[in-house]
Amino acid sequence: MDDCIFCKIVKGQIPCTKVYEDEYTFAFKDINPQAKQHILIIPKEHILTGLNDVNDDNSYIIGKLFYAAKIVSEMLGIDKSGVRIINNTGKDAHQSVQHFHIHVLGGEDMGEGLV
Ligand code: 5GP
Ligand code: ZN
Repeated sequence: MDDCIFCKIVKGQIPCTKVYEDEYTFAFKDINPQAKQHILIIPKEHILTGLNDVNDDNSYIIGKLFYAAKIVSEMLGIDKSGVRIINNTGKDAHQSVQHFHIHVLGGEDMGEGLV
């Protein structure tokens, strides 16, 4: 996707603070953090926009994203204290970037709001 911000980040065309990558996934710090640690984990390929695109063939990538989230949480030292993982899909969730991603938040007590 030529005009996708996250595809450009993966290609190095837009700078980011990368924290991890593997064959399938890419992780970097959110530019507008909502917690002390706020990492975005995305598939390297623009194969999904949101949850509605997940199907039997591509669902393995969701597992890869969660596995990357575990690794990143350990790397940042927030795995023991706890993390919150969020996916925004669509208008009501205010999804702003149409390249599937999960937010990994932690590093502080985030309270009981928003689940
Ligand atoms: P969404 O609202 O789609 O779930 O989340 C998109 C996230 O991408 C937002 O939290 C926003 O701060 C982040 N974001 C948008 N543009 C950039 C960017 O250029 N660099 C980084 N690091 N994060 C971005
Ligand atoms: Zn993309």
